[in-house]
Amino acid sequence: MQLIIHRGTNEIGGSCFELNDGKTRLLFDVGLPLNNNDNTENVKLDIKGLYGYEETDINAIFITHAHPDHFGLLEFINSKIPVYMSRVTSNLIKKVYPLTSNKYLKNSDIHVLDNPITIGDYTITPHIVDHSAPQSLAYEIQYKNKKLLYTGDLRFHGRKSYMSDNLKKVKDVDYLIMEGSNIGREKQTQKSENDVLQELKCAFNTKKLSLITFSSQNLERFISVFKACLINKKTLVLDPNTCYVLENFKDLSKNIPQFNWNNIKVYFSPSSISNELAKDKTLYKYKSKKISVEEIRKNPSKYVLKDNFYLTKKILKKFKPEEIQYIYSLWKGYLEKSLHTDILKPQLIHIHSSGHAYLEDLQNFVKELSPKIIIPIHTQHPKKYEELFKTEVLNLSDCEILEVAE
Ligand SMILES: [Zn+2]
Repeated sequence: MQLIIHRGTNEIGGSCFELNDGKTRLLFDVGLPLNNNDNTENVKLDIKGLYGYEETDINAIFITHAHPDHFGLLEFINSKIPVYMSRVTSNLIKKVYPLTSNKYLKNSDIHVLDNPITIGDYTITPHIVDHSAPQSLAYEIQYKNKKLLYTGDLRFHGRKSYMSDNLKKVKDVDYLIMEGSNIGREKQTQKSENDVLQELKCAFNTKKLSLITFSSQNLERFISVFKACLINKKTLVLDPNTCYVLENFKDLSKNIPQFNWNNIKVYFSPSSISNELAKDKTLYKYKSKKISVEEIRKNPSKYVLKDNFYLTKKILKKFKPEEIQYIYSLWKGYLEKSLHTDILKPQLIHIHSSGHAYLEDLQNFVKELSPKIIIPIHTQHPKKYEELFKTEVLNLSDCEILEVAE
């Protein structure tokens, strides 16, 4: 059986690898590189049978989670290939992603994978792990007498860290294909999601208007923000897009805040997303919770606003920057892309915890799992693995073929 990492041996994002035994071909993740500048045609992987409409010999694609650097190529792929993922990932990819990206996934053959599945001589077992995307999966792959474990993206310091801990119980792993996004970033402060909550609680305790940038799809961060609002008796103002994302998480737990809850208001802004939501009347549901900038101006200390291009633009016309407390709750690397950063920089507070495992947690994971061989993926520092994990490491190059002996 051959293992080929098509992309990801030496970069964060764009992950994709293949298992091929001559009879059955499986792909794991079909991601877009992080810096693709929207020119997706140039970053399509050269994989026979992946695109087009003809018969293909790729039997299945397994997606770990709903971040475009793991599933972004799905919009191009042959619709005859079945694609497997978790329930929440499928909701996000089918309903939310087309809305926010204007990319419509032609592929309709998406399947929810709750249990192990056997395809040819492979048995693939999904394991839910903790990451900044909800219901992310790692995959355990049994092929004859060999076992592979693909971590996808994971961390051990979120509220659902016990899920990643469960992965340590997988027995007799021959090849661990492991992400290492935070390898080489050891100097960053290693905050947990609980630290984020505590810092947000303090930050929202202000007479200023609070404005916060975070990802709608980072459910744990959303819960931290909402809890910190409740403790400070503040109302969280969301855009319709975020309300829609939250509705898609409803199945996951009854504890996920929804637009009609107390302490949530909705700011209606003219955007392509609102237009789309208006088409099937989803948008009108949110009307009962509508709030205007004028209402916010009357009592700014009462509100925490989720940053939205139109809302923030309007807010900056009505408020002086020093009247705003601006919290940036994403990875600092994205800060340059942030549209309001320059104006709000003097007010900026960075409160964030990484979506990826810290080095020490990865070391503990490897120690407990004790795989025979580690294969680095989703990292900028694959060469550091050997020294860091004291385990045999196989550094592959993109597209290199590894023959896995049965
Ligand atoms: Zn991710």
